Amino acid sequence: QTLNATQPVVLTDAEPEDGAAEHNPDPQGLTPEHLAYVIYTSGSTGKPKGVMVEHRNVSQFILNNQAADISAQDCIAHCANIAFDASVWEIWSALLNGARLCIITPSTLQDPRQLRDVLLREKVSVMWLTVGLFNEYLEVLKPVFGQLRYLLTGGDVLDPVKISRLQQSAQQPERLINGYGPTETTTFVTTYTIDSAVNRNRSIPIGKPIANTQVYLLDEHGQPVPLGICGEIHIAGESVTRGYLNRPELTAERFLPDPFTPGQRMYRTGDLGRWLPDGNIEFLGRNDFQVKLRGFRIELGEIEACLAACDGVHDAVVIAREDTPGDKRLVAYLLAEPGHTPEPAWLRQRLAQSLAEYMLPAAFVTLENFPLTLNGKLDRQALPAPDRAAAVTRGDDAPVGEVEKTLAAIWCELLGLSQVGRHDNFFELGGHSLMAVQLISRIQGEFFIDVSISTLFLSPTLLEQADAIFSAQIDAIAGDEIAAIQHELDEMLPEELAKMISEGHNE
Ligand code: ADP
Repeated sequence: QTLNATQPVVLTDAEPEDGAAEHNPDPQGLTPEHLAYVIYTSGSTGKPKGVMVEHRNVSQFILNNQAADISAQDCIAHCANIAFDASVWEIWSALLNGARLCIITPSTLQDPRQLRDVLLREKVSVMWLTVGLFNEYLEVLKPVFGQLRYLLTGGDVLDPVKISRLQQSAQQPERLINGYGPTETTTFVTTYTIDSAVNRNRSIPIGKPIANTQVYLLDEHGQPVPLGICGEIHIAGESVTRGYLNRPELTAERFLPDPFTPGQRMYRTGDLGRWLPDGNIEFLGRNDFQVKLRGFRIELGEIEACLAACDGVHDAVVIAREDTPGDKRLVAYLLAEPGHTPEPAWLRQRLAQSLAEYMLPAAFVTLENFPLTLNGKLDRQALPAPDRAAAVTRGDDAPVGEVEKTLAAIWCELLGLSQVGRHDNFFELGGHSLMAVQLISRIQGEFFIDVSISTLFLSPTLLEQADAIFSAQIDAIAGDEIAAIQHELDEMLPEELAKMISEGHNE
């Protein structure tokens, strides 16, 4: 009623005036071969590529995939961004099976405790967590796992240490599944049910093909490799999508005729694998420069092309380094044009104009020459670890006062740096949202106060975060004092209270 009367109000839950529809809409001329959606992924030549997915790809994948049996009693969490193919599985597994879809907002997803509470409250029974999120949220989400019929994780290499930690916890999902597959073949195409204790030193297989899907491991001549030998993973069957939007050559390069089933196509993934004796596939990495960073698929060539286009940059190489175990980050190496010294902060700003946040390198190292192997090829292994000069810093002012100094020590530990300045920005130095979640719990541990993830994003510099911590501490102390006074008042007898009030008036 408080709305402007001219605004139409649509009650989406109300019965329509002419009664509920008795049949599904029948869009004229729509066939299973029509396009359902296009999802963009990073591209090696500098431009992202759009994968065209047809209705038939989705329906055959969701219905009777023999990997997860979803029923009308289930509630599926919708955590994935819709730009990410896992969302297709989440949404349509729920809607095509009559299950409930629990939409998780981005702010809930960024706060593990809030996420846990929503999953418990909504009695979510099925969920997909990308490996990065699974690893980061494992401890907090443990109370949820016992209510899950299915917990699927994947999109990246699983960490057996984390999986075994889940296996040792009191609450277990009924089924824990590793899902593997690229966007070009709809969502996931192989699954592995982890049903026995994992060996912490062995990789976890990606499993066997789901229904309507074939996987071939082929050598460079297109011949199937024997058991135990590494081959490139090729995927054929109903999950293979139409190809790349407006990129016929690239489509022809990656989507090939299936030599084993006439008339069928197969997708060449660039992933390597080998058959294990039990019929499962072990994932063995990539044969190109595509990397996965916290579930985001990145072609390093796309970042290199953008860097090489910056003024003063002669040549550029980008790699994903893991100098601290479990913390993979992008580092750019460049050769400057004569007379130029491109600053990391300026380069980052330039790249941010055309690349997504997760594609921005955490450090920019300018070299005289690229290290070469004996054969004269770029020696990626010999590229040096970045130092502070390579980081995106904002001056060298040292942290001031206890709060700044303690916070700086936490930053250094999380970011793998030896020092930070008080005007430095956490995210420019390579901090990301999952690291911000760690920062929150470290701040909690050191300063005994809660700061929200949005505070960290709104106050990204050391100085600002220290201020936010300081204010939160003051609020907490003030809150304690008010609570103490409240407690005293609560304890007083009514006549004492009346006396105190009248004395107060008299004063
Ligand atoms: P998805 O979002 O389904 O992971 P992407 O197209 O973003 O699809 O990325 C696909 C690539 O991610 C695969 O080609 C492979 O390199 C990697 N990948 C996906 N799932 C797994 C997994 N379970 N284990 C190892 N690598 C994986």
